[in-house]
Amino acid sequence: RAKKRGKGSIEVFDHTLRQRALRQSKIETDLKQAISQGEIYLEYQPIINLETEKLMGFEALMRWQHKELGMISPGEFIPIAEETGLIVPIGYWVLSQACEQLKKWHESFPEFEDLIMSINLSALQIKDPALVKTVQEILQANNLSGNKLKLEITETTLIENVELASEQLKKLKANQIQISLDDFGTGYASLSYLQRFPVDVLKIDRSFVSVMAPDNHNFKIVQGVISLAHALNMTVIGEGIETSYQEQELASLGCEFGQGYYFDKPLDAVCATKLLN
Ligand code: C2E
Ligand code: MG
Ligand code: MG
Ligand code: MG
Repeated sequence: RAKKRGKGSIEVFDHTLRQRALRQSKIETDLKQAISQGEIYLEYQPIINLETEKLMGFEALMRWQHKELGMISPGEFIPIAEETGLIVPIGYWVLSQACEQLKKWHESFPEFEDLIMSINLSALQIKDPALVKTVQEILQANNLSGNKLKLEITETTLIENVELASEQLKKLKANQIQISLDDFGTGYASLSYLQRFPVDVLKIDRSFVSVMAPDNHNFKIVQGVISLAHALNMTVIGEGIETSYQEQELASLGCEFGQGYYFDKPLDAVCATKLLN
């Protein structure tokens, strides 16, 4: 009986595995054309100054509306784009698209001339020797200065590419581009180690923010991270703020900026423009 059930479950397992492999290879194939097919677009999530409650900027987040499979999350397609190397050209498309949008907003809304665009960079982009030159070209093409651009990098990217990453970040900084450390706390690096890299902004990962609730006064880690970040001259963004409680606690701990569903979900370009209006 055990054997029979075992066999059955192997078949089911096999079937799901096969399905998954098929989906994966379809995504891999279709990703090559996804941009030229117009299936990939950006959403923009507001980043708020917790003290003034004003909009500081947006984080650009990639979306893929596949014509047969529907919405495919970045959590699913970005790892595939990284495995295949496609993240490099796609990443430049994101940069270019987001900078173009930012320039339009600066022009249409002079009161938002200091609005910043934050863009995620993957490890392969950091390893690309053409990174700095390409970013410079994109900024120039859109007549934007580097201080309007923030690039988000994870600690894993940094610690797996120490020499190269610190070279690349220095060159980006020489162009006034700001560097954010994304998802802080989910990797293995200590803040004192990360101090070797020229990081301006630390983004506290959502997993630390989501446990902040009135019945759980366990904010010591978040508090410690914020103080250490400040001691290292970094500003802090709390990610994944979903409640006013979290916003207030983070603000009272001295966290300068916040991002999360409590303020806004990622918005398409039309909705983000309405928000600016
Ligand atoms: P991330 O850079 O840490 O982006 C934040 C993620 O948290 C986004 O997920 C956002 O939609 C989600 N989020 C924001 N506020 C809340 C909240 O209050 N609650 C919850 N539950 N979630 C919130 P998304 O858009 O699915 O992106 C996932 C990840 O995919 C990003 O994490 C980033 O690592 C990657 N990604 C997205 N776009 C790009 C891109 O253009 N290039 C690269 N290399 N990676 C990207
Ligand atoms: Mg990010
Ligand atoms: Mg993040
Ligand atoms: Mg993330």
